[in-house]
Amino acid sequence: MVTATLQTPASTVRGDNDDHRTQVPASENRTAEALDRARAAAARVTDPEMPMLTLVDLGVLRDVAIEDGRVVTTITPTYSGCPAMATMRDDLQRELQDAGFEGAEVRVSLTPAWTSDWITEEGRKALKGAGISPPGQAPRHTGPVALTLMPTKRALSCTLCGSANVKLSSEFGPTACKAMYQCLDCLEPFEHVKEI
Ligand SMILES: [Zn+2]
Repeated sequence: MVTATLQTPASTVRGDNDDHRTQVPASENRTAEALDRARAAAARVTDPEMPMLTLVDLGVLRDVAIEDGRVVTTITPTYSGCPAMATMRDDLQRELQDAGFEGAEVRVSLTPAWTSDWITEEGRKALKGAGISPPGQAPRHTGPVALTLMPTKRALSCTLCGSANVKLSSEFGPTACKAMYQCLDCLEPFEHVKEI
């Protein structure tokens, strides 16, 4: 259901021009230049569920490299089973292809596990700008993780009026990574990106 709101990055909306496809050149300078272009292209890809965030803002894009003349990107899923992962992979490959890099490989790295702490300052600002409450500090786990059946208590404030007088209305929002809150002062309902 969530993938129905997919956005095509604006930079992919342009005429196809097959003449500009490039082989990664052998010389080091040109490889560095190609790597810069590949990084810039990968950095333009946005999250399908939260299109105000790039994969860089989200901390999902871990690495962009050129191996044997081929671009290899590494991503870490926000959490296992995130339905957006396949779309992220496709979007990365399409954006890189548009930048002239055919057949880019997208690798998935599961260790270390993604944490909401990897969302950049820029990303947190973008979330706030879109009326979404950014995650607080993620819990640190060492050893066994106790299962809690009660909703997690969070100290957060209304994205509209800033009041801390808010209540959790649902632990799951339009996407599994968000909870729904409502402000008890201005009555604004808003989403909160959960801490993991
Ligand atoms: Zn409010």
